[in-house]
Amino acid sequence: MDSKSDSKNLSAESWLRYADELGLAPFYLERPVQMGAFIAAPAAPIIAAAHESAIWQAPADDRAASSSLPALVAAVPKRVVETSSVAQKSAASQIFVPQVAAQSLFEERIENDSLDRIRQDITPTCTRCKLHKARKQIVFGVGNPEAQLVFVGEGPGRDEDEQGEPFVGRAGQLLTQMIGAMGLRRQDVYICNVVKCRPPENRLPEKDEIAICSPFLARQLAVINPKVICCLGACSAQTLLNTNQGISRFRGEWFDYRGSKLIATYHPAYLLRNPAAKAEVWKDLQKVMAVLGLHPPKKTKP
Ligand code: SF4
Repeated sequence: MDSKSDSKNLSAESWLRYADELGLAPFYLERPVQMGAFIAAPAAPIIAAAHESAIWQAPADDRAASSSLPALVAAVPKRVVETSSVAQKSAASQIFVPQVAAQSLFEERIENDSLDRIRQDITPTCTRCKLHKARKQIVFGVGNPEAQLVFVGEGPGRDEDEQGEPFVGRAGQLLTQMIGAMGLRRQDVYICNVVKCRPPENRLPEKDEIAICSPFLARQLAVINPKVICCLGACSAQTLLNTNQGISRFRGEWFDYRGSKLIATYHPAYLLRNPAAKAEVWKDLQKVMAVLGLHPPKKTKP
């Protein structure tokens, strides 16, 4: 058996173990599996030019990833096709496709689920995946439980592991600035990660770790039910959209994620090393602002 098959089997086993914990193991045995298909859609229009202000500065580690939810349980993401004249003039482009799609456990929402219940289900001593070995504490998520906007990163770093809160290091400070530039405060949005424990040496989460932990993310998103999900970096976008495609293929475009609009942009840590990409990210954030009816705060005169 090759490594790809091993990985798929591992993912399937992880999900079945998780379903078994919830008493839902027979769920999958009765579910039909559907194959995905290639489709084409017009490219999304560019909404606005780059932000002129001097927000967002500094360098650090880039976090790009290539992991996805196990195909066994992933829902087919649907690109939200733009119909504006700008979009119609844009060249059609082929979009990524999930390899296999089936109905998800989390499409049938857990009755009376809540963030507190999810936190309790994880438990502070979770050992479901190997990330438990080096972590100091679980980093569950923070923010408004009824937020219209949720940011999803890949996993906690050193500072987050120390403080138990996502995005509090240098990249987190940049994210806070980005949120402020949108006319919001940190406490207005919800911020979480795909995996809840810090990967050693800040490496990317591995497929088996994502497969085991990401059901908790799916539940968090189902409970919050935000209008917009903004994926920060490849890992979260690839996980939620069930694709291995590079983020540059679909960054800044809209998708449907179980009733929420999903957009992917670069991780703030990437921006710390590549400040030139801030302009692209600002375009993405302006799209989010347009959907949420937000306006940048007025600059105060010195
Ligand atoms: S990453 Fe998730 S599944 Fe793994 S030990 Fe931490 S909380 Fe548990």
